[in-house]
Amino acid sequence: MSDHYVKVKVQLEQMKSSGEVVEKEEADIIEDEVPVASPPASVSPIPASGTPVAQRETSKTSVTCRNRSKSRSKLGKDEKNTCAKQESDPALQGTIVASNANSGKPMNRIDNDRQMLQIKGTGKILQGETEANGNTVPIQPPKDIKVSPHNKEDANKVAKRRKPVTVDTLKAKTSLEALKLSIRQLKWKEFPMGRRSACDIYWHGVSFHDNDNIISGQVNKFPGMIEMLRKINLTRAVRTMQELFPEEYNFYPRSWILPEEYQLFSAQISLAKDSDASLKPTFIIKPDGGSQGDGIYLIRDPSDLRVIAGSHTKQSVVQEYIHKPLLIDKLKFDIRLYVLVKSLEPLEIYIAKEGLSRFCTEPYQEPSQKNLSHVFMHLTNYSLNVQSGNFVHSDSLSSGSKRTFSSVLYRLASKGVDIKKVWSDIISLVIKTVIALVPELKVYYQADIPSGKPGPTCFQILGFDILLMKNLKPVLLEVNANPSMRIEHEQEVSPGVFEYVTSPVDEEVKVGVIRDTLRLMDPAQKKSPTSYPEHQQEEMLGSPVRGPGEEGRVLPSMCLKQVFPKYTKQFSYLRTVERITALFLRFLGVKGNMRLGPTGFRTFIRNCKLSNSHFSMATVDILYIDITRRWAGMLPDSREAGMGLQAFVEAFFYLAQRRFKSLPLREQVVSLLEVCEAQLDNQGKGDLGGALPEDSTSSTRRSVSCSRTQPGRSHHPHHTSTSTPGQALSAPQLCSPATPRRASSQDYRLHQRLRPTHKGNVEN
Ligand code: ADP
Repeated sequence: MSDHYVKVKVQLEQMKSSGEVVEKEEADIIEDEVPVASPPASVSPIPASGTPVAQRETSKTSVTCRNRSKSRSKLGKDEKNTCAKQESDPALQGTIVASNANSGKPMNRIDNDRQMLQIKGTGKILQGETEANGNTVPIQPPKDIKVSPHNKEDANKVAKRRKPVTVDTLKAKTSLEALKLSIRQLKWKEFPMGRRSACDIYWHGVSFHDNDNIISGQVNKFPGMIEMLRKINLTRAVRTMQELFPEEYNFYPRSWILPEEYQLFSAQISLAKDSDASLKPTFIIKPDGGSQGDGIYLIRDPSDLRVIAGSHTKQSVVQEYIHKPLLIDKLKFDIRLYVLVKSLEPLEIYIAKEGLSRFCTEPYQEPSQKNLSHVFMHLTNYSLNVQSGNFVHSDSLSSGSKRTFSSVLYRLASKGVDIKKVWSDIISLVIKTVIALVPELKVYYQADIPSGKPGPTCFQILGFDILLMKNLKPVLLEVNANPSMRIEHEQEVSPGVFEYVTSPVDEEVKVGVIRDTLRLMDPAQKKSPTSYPEHQQEEMLGSPVRGPGEEGRVLPSMCLKQVFPKYTKQFSYLRTVERITALFLRFLGVKGNMRLGPTGFRTFIRNCKLSNSHFSMATVDILYIDITRRWAGMLPDSREAGMGLQAFVEAFFYLAQRRFKSLPLREQVVSLLEVCEAQLDNQGKGDLGGALPEDSTSSTRRSVSCSRTQPGRSHHPHHTSTSTPGQALSAPQLCSPATPRRASSQDYRLHQRLRPTHKGNVEN
C-alpha cells in the first residue's frame, strides 16, 4: 500500500472516530501525482449549491425565501434583504463533519437525518475554520490576495457600474425553473421571451440548433453533442481510445454494436463459454437513441437476442452487464454527476462536487433467468422506479430513492471505504471520457461555427451516469447531453390529487450546478480563466453580486470544481486522437464540411511526405476509397460523401502500423504524428519548396491556410520515436487495408452523422 493510501486510510479512521474528516486539496486525489502533505481543503463532493449542510438552516431559509418569492406580492423588501444577508454568511468550508442531531453541533435541516455531512468548498475568501464547538470562524484571506477595504469598495463600485448579464431563456424548456432561480440569485437579467438585441447567454433546453440565429454571446450547447452521446457513437469514441489505451479506458463495459456486430458478439461469447464452462454472463441491450430505460432488456446468451428482437434491425448497443454492483440497503443504485465542458479549445472541464444517487426499488439479486425482467431490481432509472409502489419520495437528502451523492459517500466512508480513491477514480473517468469525445466535437464545431465567421461560443452541462461495482470501481453507463434540470416532480398530495412539488434533493443539486455554470460563463470572467491560480478564480467568482442594493452580498462558494486543465499533466498524453483531428481539420478545407474528399486526403499524404516509390499516390487513392466505401456501406443513408473523422483515424492508425511495425499501436500512432507535425511545421516555417510535392496545387495551399491551432502536443513520458521525419511508408496491401489491425469488432466501424433527435431533457 502506498504512503498516499496509508495517509488516506488514517484520515478516514480519524473521521470515524471524531466524526470529522479534513480532506486535502483535490490535487491529491489523482494518484501518484499529488503531494501527500498538501494543506487540508475540500475534496469530496459538497452540496452543489455550495451551501454546506452545516448551513442548512440558511439553506432552508433560502428555500423558504425562494418559495415565497414565487408569490411575489407577498415578498416584502425586508424579506428580500433577509435572504440576501443569509446567503452572504461565510460558508463553513473544507470539512466533512459527522454530527448528531442531539450533539449541539450544526444540525441538518432534515428531521429524520441523525447524521449529516458538513462539507466545505474551496473559496479562500469565504473560507472558515471549524472551532472545537463546530462553529465557523472566518479566517484571514491568503496573503497573496489583497482585499483591503479600499479594494472592496472599488469592487463594489465596479459591480454597481456593470450592466447585469443578460440571459435568453426562451428555449430553456424543463430547465426553466432552476434557471430562473439561478438568475435571480445572481441578480442577472432574464429575457423569457427572447430579445431583439443580442444576449450574453442563450440557454437552450435541447440542442445548439434550438435557435440558429445567434451570432454572438454564449450558448449552453455544443453542436454535435447529442449525436456524439448517442449510445453507438459514445461506444465508438471510447473504443477508439480503448485501442490506444486499453488500461486507461477499461471503465467502459465491453460493448458491441448491433446489428452489424451480432456475428462477432455471438462468436466471441461462445468462444469464451467454450473455454470456461462456468461462465454465465448477462448482457444488457440498449437502443441507440433510447433514454430513461426505454427498450432496455437483459439477455443471458446472444441467441436470446434473435428470439427477442426478431430481425434485429434496430440499432443498439449490447453491453456486458455488471452483475456485482455495490449495494446500499441491498439496493442497486447509480450516480448522476454533472460535468461542465466550459470550452473545447482550450479544453476546460469542471465537475460538480455534488450529484444524485438513484436507487432501485426492489432488492438486488444477481441476474438469473427468473429475475431478468425485474426492472425495479436491475435498472436504476428514476423514470422507471418512480412508478414502483416502493419508491420513496423524501425531503431528506440522505434517504429515499433519490439522494445526494455526498450522502452516499458519507455512508461508504462510515463503513471504512476509501472515498477519496472512489472520487479520484470518478474524476479520472470523467476526464478520460471527455477526452474521447473532444475530437469529433471539434469537427462539428468547425462545421457549425467556422473560425473567422461571427458566431457564439459554447459550453455544456453533461450528465454522467456512473455505476459503482462491488469492488468500488466506477463504470461509465452513459453520458446525457440533456440531463434533466427539472427540480419539480409530480406527486400525489392526497388521494387522486397530483401536484408538482419541488424536490429538495433536485433543487439542492441542480440549482447549484446551473448557477455556478452561469458564474463561470459570466462574460466579465472571460479574461480571468485558468491562467489564474484556482484560489483567485474562486475569489473572483465569489465577488459581490451585481445589482442595486446587493453590494457586498457574496454567493456561496463554487460547487463546480475545475479538473481540467488542472490535471493536464496526468491526462494530456491521452489526447492523441485530438492531434490526428488537428490534421484532419487542417486538410478538410471547405468550411462547413465534415468529410475529407480524396484531394484533401492526397494533400495530407503529400504534405506529410508519407508517400514514396513504395507507396504511390495511386495506392493512397485505393486506401482512401477502400476505407471510405466501407464506412459509407455501413451507413447507406449517409448524405455527405467523403471520409469522416473516424474513417480518417482508422486510415491514420493503418498508416502508422504499416510504418512502425514493431511498436505497440499507441507508439506507432504517436510516431507517425510526430512525422506529420514535423513536416507541417517545416512548411509553416517557409520550407514549402522542399515540403510540397511536385504537383502541389492551389487547393493544397488553400487547405494549409485553413489550419487552426493544433491541440497541445502532448507526449507520453514513455514514448520514444523511432523514425525520422520524411521516412516513407511501405506499400499497403490493397484490399481491406485496415483489416490486419481491426480483425475484431473494429472492422465494423461506422461513421454516423445523426441528426438531433430533439427529444427533451430527461430524468433517467
Ligand atoms: P438509458 O439512457 O435508457 O437510461 P442507460 O445506459 O443509462 O440507458 O441504462 C439504464 C439503466 O440500466 C442504468 O441506469 C443502469 O441502472 C442499468 N445499466 C445500464 N448499463 C448497465 C450495465 N452495463 N451493467 C449493469 N447495469 C446497467
